[in-house]
Amino acid sequence: MTGIKMFVIASVALLFLASAPPPVRDGSQTAGQITIEYMPTENADHNTLRTALLEHRVLEQFRDYLAMIRLPRELKLVFDGCEGEADAWYEPTQYQVTLCYEYIEELRRKAPKQTTEDGVTPEDAVIGPVMEVVLHETAHAVFHMLALPILGKEEDAADQFAAIMLLQMGQETARRTIAATAHMYWREAEESPPDHSDFASSHSPPIQRFYQLVCTAYGWDESLFGYVREKYLDPERADECPDEVETLKASFSKLIGPHLHSQTRHAIEIGSWMPVARKVLYKD
Ligand SMILES: [Zn+2]
Repeated sequence: MTGIKMFVIASVALLFLASAPPPVRDGSQTAGQITIEYMPTENADHNTLRTALLEHRVLEQFRDYLAMIRLPRELKLVFDGCEGEADAWYEPTQYQVTLCYEYIEELRRKAPKQTTEDGVTPEDAVIGPVMEVVLHETAHAVFHMLALPILGKEEDAADQFAAIMLLQMGQETARRTIAATAHMYWREAEESPPDHSDFASSHSPPIQRFYQLVCTAYGWDESLFGYVREKYLDPERADECPDEVETLKASFSKLIGPHLHSQTRHAIEIGSWMPVARKVLYKD
């Protein structure tokens, strides 16, 4: 494990420490609802990565952060080797989110060598997408386990859920993780320009995920993400982003708010959380 790799993993831990609320501790729910596992594999590199992830308690921090959502049954978060596939998914029959060690390796390989114009450091280019993808897959789990209605593409809704979860982590974490995730989509679009298979996919093409994410970020915090308006967004779309975010917040509050733990009061006080959710939360 090189110094930079260790730094990246430690930084995931630090970002969480800096931004996540303290773990929910009400006895009935703390560890029972989300369980975590770092699967050993036969690949020596994966095992080295596994040890570092374990030491820095990366999954523990996802578990503690996500404990704000009251799920009807246990959800498993798992890091595993995937026989060469750089992937992540939610398996509804097992109530399990899996993130492949290969996915982290691919992000490391493709990270920029230097900090980008938008302030994405080589480390953030790994950390941001790891956080986003775990939250995206958790979104599928939340939609499934809470049987939430979804109008539109579930993949887009999962992206929006992940964006909200990142944006409410506080300005510093939000800026870094959103910029890094946007950078990943931009890179993917550059690597392979969209063709019919991208438009036929259940996922939106990377370039569209990029524009949706930066619009959501801009609509959420116009000063923090002001550069997005200047640099990327069509002015007409940019004007609509704040309204899109209001709709998103209201939808999140209505659908997921009732399933948030009352102990998440401290969580919603980080950064800008939605007043509607606040009302829902204080009621229970
Ligand atoms: Zn998905």
